[in-house]
Amino acid sequence: MELSVRFIRGLGPKKGEAFEKSGIITLRDLLYFIPRRYIDRTRTTPISSIKGQTETEVTLIGTITDAREVRGKKGRGRYEVYLEDETDGIALVWFKKTNQIKKWIKPGFTAAFSGKVNRYGDTLQIAHPDVTYLSKGEAEDLIAGKGRWVAIYPGNKEFERVSLDNRGMRTLMDRIIGEFVPMLNDHWTESYLKKYGIVSLQEAMYGLHRPRNQDDFEKGIERIKFDELLMLQLLWAWARRKRKEKSKGISYPAVKQTTRDLINKKLPFKLTDSQRSVLHEIWDDMKSPYPMSRMLQGDVGSGKTVVALIAMSIAVENGYQAALMVPTEILAEQHYLTSRRFLEGLGIKVNLLTGSIRAKAKKDIQEGLESGEPCIIIGTHALIQKAVTMPNLGLVVIDEQHRFGVAQRLKLMNPETESKPDVLIMTATPIPRSLAISLYGDLEVSRIDEMPPGRGKITTKVINGDTNRETVYNEVRKRVNKGGKAYIVFPLIAESEKIDLQAAIEGRELLMSGFLRGIKLGLLHGKMKIDEKEEAMRKFKDGSTPVLVSTTVIEVGIDIPEATEMVIEHAERFGLAQLHQLRGRIGRGGRDSRCYLIGYPPVSEVARARLKIMSKSNDGFNIAEEDLRIRGGGDFFGIRQHGMPELRFSDIIMDQGLLLKARRAADDLISVDPDLKHIPELKKEFERSALSRLKWMEVG
Ligand code: ADP
Ligand code: MG
Repeated sequence: MELSVRFIRGLGPKKGEAFEKSGIITLRDLLYFIPRRYIDRTRTTPISSIKGQTETEVTLIGTITDAREVRGKKGRGRYEVYLEDETDGIALVWFKKTNQIKKWIKPGFTAAFSGKVNRYGDTLQIAHPDVTYLSKGEAEDLIAGKGRWVAIYPGNKEFERVSLDNRGMRTLMDRIIGEFVPMLNDHWTESYLKKYGIVSLQEAMYGLHRPRNQDDFEKGIERIKFDELLMLQLLWAWARRKRKEKSKGISYPAVKQTTRDLINKKLPFKLTDSQRSVLHEIWDDMKSPYPMSRMLQGDVGSGKTVVALIAMSIAVENGYQAALMVPTEILAEQHYLTSRRFLEGLGIKVNLLTGSIRAKAKKDIQEGLESGEPCIIIGTHALIQKAVTMPNLGLVVIDEQHRFGVAQRLKLMNPETESKPDVLIMTATPIPRSLAISLYGDLEVSRIDEMPPGRGKITTKVINGDTNRETVYNEVRKRVNKGGKAYIVFPLIAESEKIDLQAAIEGRELLMSGFLRGIKLGLLHGKMKIDEKEEAMRKFKDGSTPVLVSTTVIEVGIDIPEATEMVIEHAERFGLAQLHQLRGRIGRGGRDSRCYLIGYPPVSEVARARLKIMSKSNDGFNIAEEDLRIRGGGDFFGIRQHGMPELRFSDIIMDQGLLLKARRAADDLISVDPDLKHIPELKKEFERSALSRLKWMEVG
């Protein structure tokens, strides 16, 4: 399988190089170089019978009888030919690469042409059909209905350079498949194939490269998707196991009085049932001798912070240090203040570590941490990681994990301490199960699935900014005059933070001299110093600037229950995940709240549909699902930001069923035979694919 493509008979150095440059280095790569699509040549259509059926793909066999080049305006020409069979004729047209096309597709040329028929004015035509040269015998076979599915391989410049066109590639691949597939070794035995309901590797290869029909192809692609998903799941299963086996965890003896007091005396509210049940799951992990790897999911505003605080309190009262890592300084600051308030008088020390802490204070904190003194430390990830050794670290909580990639997370989870701390990861991103087990396959998941009681209602309106912007701000003015508080968010316009900032600054000035004249407007953005940020937040909270104009820095975690209005300018530029996060800043108190999504025309069809989803639902899961429906798999709720491992054949959304099957299979395999001793071929395959993945995971 590792045979270099250069040594494959019939390829030679020139073609070999073209393959290598296309990333196809070994025989294995060649076999997994699967067609990009197929043309169903089991049926051909007489030209006379396509009349009236547009938008369907047909295969026509005929001879070119006429050809002409049409020069268009601005030098944009097209090449048109007329194709005839015994029954009728139709126009074929090319708008691109006409110079190459006209050299070989000209009167007298006979071939099979496949494509979608479309209507152009009164006439039918096919634009850019796929062309297959045919020998006389082939043409007769096809017309007699003896054709098969024809594979179309991905093409590129390298292949063109060595004259590997569709037909050439097909012939070449056909030979390679014929020669090597019979020698392929399957890493699954007969009984496993049966158990999983998949076809053998050989059968899959034939099905992909030489399908006789749809069914052949589907079985083939399912098999290689299953393998791909299984390898990823094996890796997660193995990572979970390794963390349990190799690393000694902490076994916390008991929940003590301090934490009881925190829950029963200090918190100004009763925990929801949901919060209680996730706390039980967390406590089970903490008292077990294995390090916890748990993700805590809960929609925006569901009350994750207090759960984290209770877990940290348990760690500290048992003599350990606990770290809470957050993505921004403002959030660190806010968590610090909240913790201090709730923990006051309980004897738990809380430290804040951010870039703005003075050197002297920082040094004191660091020394305290290095001495192993039990305490809570709150700060940004970067800071805590870089500046601190904590010999006594017992619990790490990572807040708003959606901001970070997989590799970063794994690094945070595996600090260089002797016994591994427990790790709790909190996220508000409502990810479906299939996505969760792909991204966080090594974690157990807990979910807070109810909101604290007594929350006001949030109404969301989509507004046309060209015509109705003033109405929105009049409404805001009215609310503010009655004692309300409003956020106004300006979006990231360009990649540059500077311009982003400018939008907020200018937006604020315009509002101050315009729609919101006479009202005090605060400003908050990422470039401010922490004490300036604090000041801005404080003034907003106490009402001296009842309106806070901001960049998206408030998106993450900000908790000011008195805020009831949220205006988002250029809402059409935000992702739904972000809009949902932003909107989560209001509706945190008992009063009803309003969110205005201002869009400026032209707003695309898709953008409009997405904004509408926001106005219909307040439920993160719901929104995510709808978003998925509109945008389709890959883009889903900002998956790319998650640092999703690359999957070549499968799509974690579309192939959910298969993914769950792979997950179960991996769990079974690893639990009965962690070293995969009884299927050595699979073990080899796993080690090979794991190696490349491990690089991606950045852990050994
Ligand atoms: P998130 O899950 O988005 O991080 P927070 O932890 O910021 O949410 O909580 C949102 C708000 O709800 C906070 O003001 C918090 O004090 C409050 N809260 C948390 N739990 C409860 C509860 N059980 N009852 C009432 N309010 C609660
Ligand atoms: Mg939070």
